[in-house]
Amino acid sequence: MNETLRAMTTTTEQLTRAVIEHVRGLYATEDFIPLHRPVFGGEEKAMLAECIDTSFVSSVGKRVDEFEARMAEFTGARHAVAVVNGTCALQVALRVAGVEPGDEVITQALTFVATANSIAHAGASPVFVDVDRETLGMSPDALEAFLESEAERRDDGCFNRGTGKRIAACMPMHTFGHPCRIEEIARICADWGIELVEDAAESLGSYRGERHTGTFGHLGVFSFNGNKIITTGGGGMIVTDDEALARHAKHLTTTAKVPHAYEFVHDEIAYNFRMPNLNAALGCAQMEQLPGFLAAKREIAEGYRRLCEELGIVFISEQAGTRASYWLNAIVLDSRDARDAFLKATNDAGVMTRPIWRLMSELELYTDCQSEGLTISKWLEERVVCLPSSVA
Ligand SMILES: *Cc1c(COP(=O)(O)O)cnc(C)c1O
Repeated sequence: MNETLRAMTTTTEQLTRAVIEHVRGLYATEDFIPLHRPVFGGEEKAMLAECIDTSFVSSVGKRVDEFEARMAEFTGARHAVAVVNGTCALQVALRVAGVEPGDEVITQALTFVATANSIAHAGASPVFVDVDRETLGMSPDALEAFLESEAERRDDGCFNRGTGKRIAACMPMHTFGHPCRIEEIARICADWGIELVEDAAESLGSYRGERHTGTFGHLGVFSFNGNKIITTGGGGMIVTDDEALARHAKHLTTTAKVPHAYEFVHDEIAYNFRMPNLNAALGCAQMEQLPGFLAAKREIAEGYRRLCEELGIVFISEQAGTRASYWLNAIVLDSRDARDAFLKATNDAGVMTRPIWRLMSELELYTDCQSEGLTISKWLEERVVCLPSSVA
């Protein structure tokens, strides 16, 4: 082994040992440490019991309305519609935004598969553009470059010159709770006549300026899956300022039933996607704890930031003018080899760490989709690792 290699190996080993020691200290346990586990420290049990005692377990129930009202208030959106999960919420948001089968939707290649799947479920094709190195979210520069070289604006919308398809929407994602450069993306979408639907599944509690993520586009979507900042077991929420869109989203998620005292009349082929009261009860109890969760997350992130500074490795920090939820803490290692060694050593030691996702453009199911200049996405894909980030 030559000297540089030896030095590199030692560094990775030292780094691994330091991170394991830090994480074990943070959670004060020698047991397995997961990446993100939910915390039920509030009124969850009482609220669930109330659903059972009153027999309101399904999607008609006061907790669903209450959870929607709380989410609208917290995010500053005018309307919120509770849905069974984030993926279905994204699919419905695209549909009410006017995405039709055969359309294209621009998204980032570096994201969780649900983003791309929701586009496919809406009958559209995803087109993948690059992300920013600092935010891990869609790069407005990449979006604009793609549109300038590939798209044309016509009276009836924005079209992809290569495929002839309509580019109906753009769906950026705020990775791990770090807001992407969403105002710039919103401006570009407005210039090109493209609907903006934000995948804010990971960014409850994240702001750009004073404005909550998920409220910059026509619609935004949150997820309350078991590993998210707050959980309803499974669940999602569509937020929007547009009353007509909110009404349509609610209609589509409740079988498009026309209100009537006893008749069954439905006016669209719709979905049974409404969140049940049981899940919403969990959501209401979790909302109470959200400010505490966010404060605890900032402290955990600050500890990791300091550790990374000492170790000389890159920690993904919130950008000036933004407030990150730090849902998952992420570091950037030197190379794919360093990452692989780190992942193996930490997981072997019972400290769960995960690489960031495979690029959507590299999953077999999406290899036929158009993608443009994914240099930064590829660079990050090889190096980014998530660290344990549970609140307790
Ligand atoms: C969690 C998540 C979703 C939605 O997930 P569900 O499990 O369906 O609630 C969508 N996009 C991203 C980026 C996510 O992390």
